[in-house]
Amino acid sequence: MTLAAQKTSYVTTSIPYVNANPHLGFALELCIADAFARHRRIRGRRVRFVTGTDDHSLKNVLAAERAGVPTSQWVTDHAAAFEALNAALGVSADDFQRTSANPAHAPAVRALWEACARRGDLYRKPYRGRYCVGCERFYEPEELDDGRCPEHEAPLETVEETNWFFRLSRYAGVVREAIESGELRVVHDGAREETLAFLRGPVRDVSVSRSAARARGWGLPVPGDPSQVIWVWFDALTGYLAALGYGGSDRSRLDPFWWGDGERVHVIGKGIARFHAVYWPAFLESAGLPWPTDLLVHGYLTVDGAKISKSGRTIDPAPLIAQYGADAVRYFLLRHVRTARDGDFSIARFLQAHDAELANGLGNLASRILALVERVTNGRVPAPGVELAVDQELRREALGLRSEVDGAVGRLSLDEALSAIFRLVDATNRYVTAAAPWEHAREGRAARAAGVLRTALEALHVIARELAPFLPATSDDLRTRLRAPPLEAEVGWNALASGVPLSRGAPLFRRIGTEASRSGTIG
Ligand SMILES: [Zn+2]
Repeated sequence: MTLAAQKTSYVTTSIPYVNANPHLGFALELCIADAFARHRRIRGRRVRFVTGTDDHSLKNVLAAERAGVPTSQWVTDHAAAFEALNAALGVSADDFQRTSANPAHAPAVRALWEACARRGDLYRKPYRGRYCVGCERFYEPEELDDGRCPEHEAPLETVEETNWFFRLSRYAGVVREAIESGELRVVHDGAREETLAFLRGPVRDVSVSRSAARARGWGLPVPGDPSQVIWVWFDALTGYLAALGYGGSDRSRLDPFWWGDGERVHVIGKGIARFHAVYWPAFLESAGLPWPTDLLVHGYLTVDGAKISKSGRTIDPAPLIAQYGADAVRYFLLRHVRTARDGDFSIARFLQAHDAELANGLGNLASRILALVERVTNGRVPAPGVELAVDQELRREALGLRSEVDGAVGRLSLDEALSAIFRLVDATNRYVTAAAPWEHAREGRAARAAGVLRTALEALHVIARELAPFLPATSDDLRTRLRAPPLEAEVGWNALASGVPLSRGAPLFRRIGTEASRSGTIG
């Protein structure tokens, strides 16, 4: 991916069912999508970043029935918890879409359905199959694990009814070729291979409606056939287009963000890769619409080694964020979970990373440099001095960081981007120790002491800027302390204004302590 200015980036998360409150796995997805969208914005792209909830799932209906409340109230209450998580994590979404509340959603789904129908890709057929409500999909016998859903390890229900079918078989070849050629990039080796294996097999047409009775009347009716509601995945996927105004008369977002030559990026979990890598491009191709360009697929998050959905073991991200701050949670999820791999969360590792890398690494570097500036140069930014080889070496490393971060974000290895930033944190810490500006100051070499501090401040500024997509609050805080130019400004080395007074401020991260990291529990 090239990062040309003025290009557009449309970035979405998946839209989760709201049958329960959000867990840490969805917080991971929000953090990935947010860091990606922020990175694009900082690099001068025009970005539209959308998240939201999928209200039309049968799972929501069943959860509401169990709780004894109307479905509409259930989805409203639970969507609020997802919206609150966005705010708590500092997610920079431009729009939060609820499929049942967005007035543009139903017209968009109807428009896509009608476009596929005009192409002759929708037909009615009696059908008998095994359905998993958890996945909201039918399974073929050979896909089952001992008769159970491989995703949920739950028994399936047998459903027999006349449904509307989509001619998926017609599009398997074109979708397969696009994934093979990289025209549709699936960033996750496992998900890509599984998708291609599925597309190389005999691909059957897919049922895209349910009887209205079985859906308890919840969902959108099939145009011209009110006895059926549209399959929740056809409905939910269209949310990505509805968020841009598809099906309406205002094309001010649809044209640049869906029809333009920019990128269209869905950030999703690997469990729903097939819906996005097979069905979605097929529906779009049938309707004569462009496809997404990139599917950024993250892995599953386990907690203490156990899968969240299977064990019932879960971590509510809200108290974790309330206690340690959004950036501490973002940091762990973005650096210690490899972006396109499965990862594990444990409170002990979280606290250890917090203390070792944020408090001792980054936080200590900032306090150390700012304290030295206070003592050695009267709290003011020193002018650039004569550079020695050690200074040049740190400058080269710092100025190379931006392209390392760009490369890692382009590969969706956000963990590698953060690792590169923290290599510079370590290098700058080593530089300050080796260059020992306090000794030069003590021994009357004021110019050298000031020159070292200037170099250290510039490196800290590069770190603060590159951290912005990942730890936005920390980046803002640090750049405020440095009286740095705005993020939007294109700046190079020696970007800080000389002679400006700096504020040292409180530690960026307070150590929690090893005692807490041994006994700590959350939620
Ligand atoms: Zn399932």
